[in-house]
Amino acid sequence: MKLYDTLEKKERLFKPLYDKTVKLYACGPTVYFYAHIGNMRTYISIDVLKRTLIHDKYKVKHVMNITDVGHNIGDGDVGEDKIKEEAKKEHRTAEEIIKFYTDSFMNDLKKLNIIKPDIISRASSNVEDMLKLIEILDEKGYLYRTNTGVYFDTSKVNEYGTLSGSSFEKLNKELKAGARVERPEGLKNITDFAVWRFSKPEEKEMVWDTKFGRGFPGWHIECSTMVMKFLGEQIDIHCGGADHISIHHSNEIAQSEAATGKKFVKYWFHGAFLIVDGKKMSKSLRNVYTIEDLEKKKFMPLSFRYLVLTVHYRNILNFTLDVLKSADDSLKALYVFISKTSAVKDGTGIDEEFIRVINSKRDEFFEKAYDDINIPIAITKMYEFINIVKKKALTKNEADYVIKIMLDFDEILGLDFNMHLNSEIPKEASKLIEEREIIRKARDFEKADRIREEIKKKYKIILEDTPEGTVWYKSSELY
Ligand SMILES: [Zn+2]
Repeated sequence: MKLYDTLEKKERLFKPLYDKTVKLYACGPTVYFYAHIGNMRTYISIDVLKRTLIHDKYKVKHVMNITDVGHNIGDGDVGEDKIKEEAKKEHRTAEEIIKFYTDSFMNDLKKLNIIKPDIISRASSNVEDMLKLIEILDEKGYLYRTNTGVYFDTSKVNEYGTLSGSSFEKLNKELKAGARVERPEGLKNITDFAVWRFSKPEEKEMVWDTKFGRGFPGWHIECSTMVMKFLGEQIDIHCGGADHISIHHSNEIAQSEAATGKKFVKYWFHGAFLIVDGKKMSKSLRNVYTIEDLEKKKFMPLSFRYLVLTVHYRNILNFTLDVLKSADDSLKALYVFISKTSAVKDGTGIDEEFIRVINSKRDEFFEKAYDDINIPIAITKMYEFINIVKKKALTKNEADYVIKIMLDFDEILGLDFNMHLNSEIPKEASKLIEEREIIRKARDFEKADRIREEIKKKYKIILEDTPEGTVWYKSSELY
């Protein structure tokens, strides 16, 4: 398998630090609001990476944090804590905000068929460990105090900012010239960041009394600490959105490597941005969508997942409702293909030449998937495979083999193909759907509608007629 590394800016053969186990860390959400589809695109990309590793027989240990304290508005060190601000606005406690938006996020993961990380941990439950790391950095002379917090001196590390293709000197010069952002008093270098922030006297929630003063951790130290606590000082893959490259991940590298003296991460994996109608998503443009917004427009969450899969994770995805609609149509057509193929019950024997041809398409699919997770091209290979299959009158043995391969593709795609196997619904329901198809072709729509209602009532199966045929869902599939 090959993987692109943001730090080296090139694809490299993937080889984990230890044998067949992959230590993977993904920056989790800051739970101060609903996650939008741009956030969810990143988590889908990470999920596909993970599924591809698992398909390639790796054992993946996946850790994700939940940032519930210390992430300021604007990612820098000025401005307020995002969660505490939202709590004030909504007249709720920070804990209420955290619980509500964490649940909402976990729900989105489920809807999008994202495999849950092995460990999900809240930043606030690891403050003791963060303090230990801060202490090490302090002993090594990397920290200094201002009247707002304890800061990391970025001039003391070599190669600060390499991840973003920049350098300490360049960044400090550029940021000074930009000087739009207000910086805390007493800061030595513009790129320095807080590992510990002092709280205001009126702050009662999410504050700790420590030898560094009363306050709370900085956002970056949280991730470094949780990586090391749950996975060790060195890990294989660190994932996140491209928006984290220049500040958050650069700071994680600086402080982690300062503390351990070891290379922190072997491969940096970053998902590119999602824009809406050609523009950056922003509240003022009213173009911020959540998964729930898409559902309200009658789209399946998995249609959004399908759309994400059709654009390479390192390319910008321009989201529009039109492209989502065509993703939705394509996914439904795939479901129809799965249910029809799995319904083949006559004929035996296998055409060896046919099997050879479809096997080569299967191999091309995985070759592309293993080449820096090139899922868009892998998907075109899947369609070449399907088109070959569609031209043949399949025997039951051949149909079974085709389905086996489709389910193998879905180990990586995660589009719930298995839910659309004919065996997933009662035989009687399947027979009724077949009969209805004939009636519909004879244009007796009234009777077709009656059967649709009957199927819904009796079997809790919902039918939708599409150009490719009738797609069915178990009502539990739709939210
Ligand atoms: Zn992080």
